[in-house]
Amino acid sequence: MAQSSGSTPASEKFWRQLLSIRSSHPENLMARHLTKDYLESLDQAARNRLWKLIKTGYENPDSYMGVYAQNTSDYEEFNTLLEPMIRDHHGIPSEQEMVQHHDWSSVHSKCDLQDIDPALDDVSMRVRVGRNLAALPLPGAMSKSERVTLERQTAEAFSTLVKDPGFGGAYLSLTPGSRHTISAEQYQNRVERHQMFKDMRFDRYLVSGGLSTHWPYGRGMYISGSGDFMVWVGEEDHLRIMSMRKGGNLSGLYARLYEGLEKLSKVLPAFAHSARYGYLTSCPSNLGTAMRASMHLPISVRAQDEATLKESGLAVRGVGGEHTDAGPQGIIDISPSARLGVTESEIMQRLFNGTAALWASRKKTLNH
Ligand code: ADP
Ligand code: MG
Repeated sequence: MAQSSGSTPASEKFWRQLLSIRSSHPENLMARHLTKDYLESLDQAARNRLWKLIKTGYENPDSYMGVYAQNTSDYEEFNTLLEPMIRDHHGIPSEQEMVQHHDWSSVHSKCDLQDIDPALDDVSMRVRVGRNLAALPLPGAMSKSERVTLERQTAEAFSTLVKDPGFGGAYLSLTPGSRHTISAEQYQNRVERHQMFKDMRFDRYLVSGGLSTHWPYGRGMYISGSGDFMVWVGEEDHLRIMSMRKGGNLSGLYARLYEGLEKLSKVLPAFAHSARYGYLTSCPSNLGTAMRASMHLPISVRAQDEATLKESGLAVRGVGGEHTDAGPQGIIDISPSARLGVTESEIMQRLFNGTAALWASRKKTLNH
């Protein structure tokens, strides 16, 4: 990990280190797009604000994005740096206009993995969206009391779901002394079942971005009675709203997320959203729909699968999520990598089509 002390942006030491990251880690988009001219055009106060955004990519050269927005206004204030990074990551050419459309209409049409293979009837499926309340700083910049306020406001909204017979369930908090607090064992059990997020203090990218600060204050989750609808509070975004179940019915999974999201949107303060970038998130890679739809598949990726996955726009993660390797039984997590410039319905279709392509290519190699 590079030393950050004493290297404020634009100092000679900072710039030398940045150039070194650029050549050793060409995938680090912050290092690729930050220019000395831009840094020098900022006054000291703006440089100090920018430092908080880019610290994660500077301290962790192996970052992919290398930036966590600290406030939704950063997308305007630091647009000279962020826009080229966003276009680069999301593959949007500089001349193409950016407008984010939303479309959930496919929740009403049939989309079932069993139409690919009847054996795909017990897949662990999950779809989540990130949401941030417009009135608060993003998680990297929140004070302890803002984190607790966020939790209080959202816990009130969850009480509406708890009273709803279609949801029920409970809010579980990690904040010490709250009336919803769960034990360390209960927390660990939820993490192992992939329901709750991991201790953020062990994620060096989040730590450098300020997102794990004040852990475990203001962190928790709502979970429905049947366990298929959850909301994380205080992780990488204020809220991560998700549906997770086993089966093959993708549109049913989406419909469940949509139902809960609609109910919550009515009782929560406004979410941060822009016409160009869609839902505003801490990591620029999540802008747009802020949606990741994934499946856990009990296969190991072979060299010949990689081309199919790439053509289908699918990313592979390990069984424990981002920055983890495949599990002992070779379970992988596949999800469409696009979030911005695509609609929610298109993401579902991409996951289905990509799985179909992967299955077809594996069958072909098995038959030869
Ligand atoms: P996110 O995109 O929400 O940040 P992560 O990759 O950080 O997702 O993973 C968060 C948690 O969700 C991890 O415990 C991961 O194993 C779990 N997870 C993701 N997709 C699935 C799935 N399809 N089935 C079960 N668990 C999943
Ligand atoms: Mg994550």
